[in-house]
Amino acid sequence: MSDTALSRAAAADAQENSSLYEAAQMQFRRAADLMGLDGSVRTILEQPKNEIIVNFPVRMDDGRYELFRGYRIQHSNILGPFKGGIRFHPEVNLDEVKALAAWMTFKCALAGIPFGGGKGGITCRPWTMSEEEQMRLTRRFTHALGTNIGPDWDIPAPDVGTNARHMVWMMDTYLNSVNAHDRNRGRAVVTGKTLTCGGSDGREKATGQGVCFALESWAKDRGHKLSELKIAVQGFGNVGSHAALIAAEMGASIVAVQDHTGATANTDGLDVVALFAHWKETGSLPGFAGGDDLEPESFWSTPCDVMIPAAIENQITKERASRLEASVVIEGANGPTTPRAEKMLMKRDIEVIPDILANAGGVIVSFFEWIQNRNCEQWEVEMVDRRLRRLLLRGYQQMKEQARKLGTDNRTAAYVVALARIESAYAERGIFP
Ligand code: GLU
Repeated sequence: MSDTALSRAAAADAQENSSLYEAAQMQFRRAADLMGLDGSVRTILEQPKNEIIVNFPVRMDDGRYELFRGYRIQHSNILGPFKGGIRFHPEVNLDEVKALAAWMTFKCALAGIPFGGGKGGITCRPWTMSEEEQMRLTRRFTHALGTNIGPDWDIPAPDVGTNARHMVWMMDTYLNSVNAHDRNRGRAVVTGKTLTCGGSDGREKATGQGVCFALESWAKDRGHKLSELKIAVQGFGNVGSHAALIAAEMGASIVAVQDHTGATANTDGLDVVALFAHWKETGSLPGFAGGDDLEPESFWSTPCDVMIPAAIENQITKERASRLEASVVIEGANGPTTPRAEKMLMKRDIEVIPDILANAGGVIVSFFEWIQNRNCEQWEVEMVDRRLRRLLLRGYQQMKEQARKLGTDNRTAAYVVALARIESAYAERGIFP
C-alpha cells in the first residue's frame, strides 16, 4: 500500500474504533431484531443499570499524591450478581467499561451460569508502578467501591493488567472494611485469587483453556484433526500464553505469536514452552532462537488455519481482516474485531467464534471458584477442566443450533441464545414494582 493509502486506512481504522459501546450495541441490536426481542427487555438492556465512577488519591513511592479515576459498571443482574473483571490500563474509559460490562451479561447468560454482567477498571499504567503503589491503588479503589461490591451483589475478577495478587488485595480490603465477620464465604467477593487465599485450581489458565475447548469444537465441526492445524496467536499475556501452550499440547502447531513487543514465527511450529521461558526471561517475543522475528504488521497475514486474537479490543480492523490468511478467528480477547472488520471477514468467508463464547472459560471457572468459596471446598483441576469443557461445548452447540435455525452468523446466534434466557427471566419475574 502507498503511504497515502496507508494513512487513509489508519484514519478509517481510528474512526471504526471510535465507540466500543456503540459496537457492542450494534451486535446486540442485530440479534434483538432477528429474534424479535421483547421491546421492554430491549430498552432495559440498552443501558447499564449502574455506572459508578470514583476519583481517589494514592500516595506514590516518592511521596507525591496522584489522583486516579476508577470505574465499576453494573450492566445487568437479572440472572444473578453482577460479575466481571477489573482492568488496569491507560485506555480505560467509561465507554470501554460499559461495553465490556454488557459483554459480561451476554457471556454469562450464554454459558448458563447464574451471574449478570459488570466490569471495572482504573485508568493507569500499571507497568510503570511499583508493587507497593499497585497495592495502594487497588486497596484505595476497593475501599472507594465499598458495598458496591459483595459476594452476593457484584463480584470482580482479573482482567487486562490485573492478576491474582490484585484480587487478594481486593478481597483483604473488602474483608477488613466491609464484611469483617464472614471471613470464609466473604472470600467469594472476588474470583481469580491465589490458591492459598481461596482461588480455584485451573482458574489462571481457564480463559486460555476455554479458547482451546472452543477450538476443539470448531475443529470437530469442520472435520479437522488438531494436529493438522496451524495457529497464530496475538497477545502473550494470561490468555494468549495459556491458549498457545494448551493448543500446542493438544497437538496443533503455533506458527506465529505477536504482542506489543514484536512478533516471532516458525512455519514448522514454535516450541511454545521454550518461547514462554524466553518471554519470561527477556520480557519480549523478538530474539527467540526457535523462531524468526516478524514485523508486527506482517503477523496478520501469516498463513494459518486459526487466528486467535488474545490481547485487547479493536485489533482486527477492516484492513487487517482483508489480509488475514485464516479459516477462523477465535476471539480470546473481548471485542478484538471491529464491526467493519467483521463484515470483511463475512465477505471473505472467514468464520468467527465470538468472544462471548470463546473467552468464557475465565468467568466459568470464576463461577466454580465462587461455589468452592461458599461451600468451603477445594476442587481438583481435573474436575474444574471437565466441568468447564462441558459448559463450553454446550454453549458452542447451542450457538451453532441457533445459527443454523436462523441462518445467521455465530456472534448473532450466540447473542440470541443469551438474550432468550434473559427475556425468559424478565417474562417470569416482571419488573419491580
Ligand atoms: N475478565 C474476564 C472476562 O472478561 C473474566 C471475568 C470473571 O471471571 O469474572 O471474561
